[in-house]
Amino acid sequence: MIKTKVLIVLSALAYIAIWGYTICIANIIKVDPFPTYTTTASPKSVETPEPLPRTAPEPTPETMTFIATAYCSCVECCGKSDGVTASGVIAKQGVTIAADWKVLSRGTVVYIEGVGTRTVQDKGGAIRGNKIDIYFDSHEDALEFGRRTVKLTIIK
Ligand SMILES: [Zn+2]
Repeated sequence: MIKTKVLIVLSALAYIAIWGYTICIANIIKVDPFPTYTTTASPKSVETPEPLPRTAPEPTPETMTFIATAYCSCVECCGKSDGVTASGVIAKQGVTIAADWKVLSRGTVVYIEGVGTRTVQDKGGAIRGNKIDIYFDSHEDALEFGRRTVKLTIIK
């Protein structure tokens, strides 16, 4: 019985010794004793994370359809000619638009397709609902713009 036990212990020790030896040899000859087998093909089950493109559109800002007209600061357009908007600032071409402040509140920055970025600084009696009035420095330019259906996106 004792001999059997000794034999078991010895074989256990031998087993450990062999493993240790294997690892030692492996270290010497620079071989991974427990190589992990990797396949060159990427596993299909792993979901590749979606790349985050920097120029990707924001979580789709709402685009609305508006009727756009144009005006200038003349008496004909405004009934006055001081160029002061309803928000108190002087109207500026490339910046100012008039809108229904219940639809687009004062200070709202919008992108108007085909026109550019504008800020709601003004309002007008005829500007109700989905209507905007785009400010131009010259009456002629305002007339030339006429009346258009535009796509408008709120930026902020
Ligand atoms: Zn005018």
